Amino acid sequence: MAAEFTILGTGGWIPTTRRETTCAILSMPDLLFIFDAGTGLARLLEDRFRPLLELSPERTPDPAGEPSREPARTKSSASTPSREVHLFLSHYHLDHIAGLVYLPAMFKGRTVYLHPPAASITGYDPQEIISGIIRKPYNPQSIDDMPLDLIIKPLEEGEHVIAGADVRVRKQIHADPSVAYRIEDLLAFATDTADDPGTAEFARGVRLLAHEAWIDGIEEDDPATERIAREAYVAHTSARQAAARAAEAGVEKLALMHLNPLRGAEYHERMLVAAQKIFPGTVILEDGETVEL
Ligand SMILES: [Zn+2]
Ligand SMILES: [Zn+2]
Repeated sequence: MAAEFTILGTGGWIPTTRRETTCAILSMPDLLFIFDAGTGLARLLEDRFRPLLELSPERTPDPAGEPSREPARTKSSASTPSREVHLFLSHYHLDHIAGLVYLPAMFKGRTVYLHPPAASITGYDPQEIISGIIRKPYNPQSIDDMPLDLIIKPLEEGEHVIAGADVRVRKQIHADPSVAYRIEDLLAFATDTADDPGTAEFARGVRLLAHEAWIDGIEEDDPATERIAREAYVAHTSARQAAARAAEAGVEKLALMHLNPLRGAEYHERMLVAAQKIFPGTVILEDGETVEL
């Protein structure tokens, strides 16, 4: 299955102009899988990603037999979206769901399947949580009034087939429960998790592991900074830990994400070099960068 992974938000917590908060997409010819709805979701509106939002890659021929230059959605014969849209949520922290209220901007009139982790994983009723956020006075419209069809389909831990793709869900260790996703042998998406031995088995052999890296990890070796590491490790992973899991899992590539916005580019650069010593296939992508899978 040919697929492209594009990260739209490489940051955690606070959006910056360089790094919006967590959002990534896996696009296949007739499918759009979105992972988390942080502020990075807004990047889907950038011109370079417009083709992903078009209803049909085929243009309806005009009477002269030439392909129309208009998007197919203007033609009645192509009113069915060609890309089914599924949005998977890792958890409900705001840096991962703020973009839910942006959905009408890119998917007006369309159906979007929203997959939050099931109540059995988080302890929260997904319907209640989501309709509790998308409503007045937080948003001018309630979830039922938004001009798109948002269908909530929570996912239990385990294996699923979604739009023909094998999707696996695994509970992680975080300040509030979060889940990792695995799509076929293409992608494992693990953000907002403490370092977790189970991640290696879960991600075994995928082309790309997209994993959070909140700190470098060098902090744990210095008494002056050891406390930073200890506090971070309750809910988050270091770049070095993520690289070790990637090596253990035998993935092709590791993309570090959910970067700490309080750290500068130099810190992230050093962090990358440290991770590459453990797993050479480590990268830090910029928002909007794509990896062919
Ligand atoms: Zn987060
Ligand atoms: Zn979180």
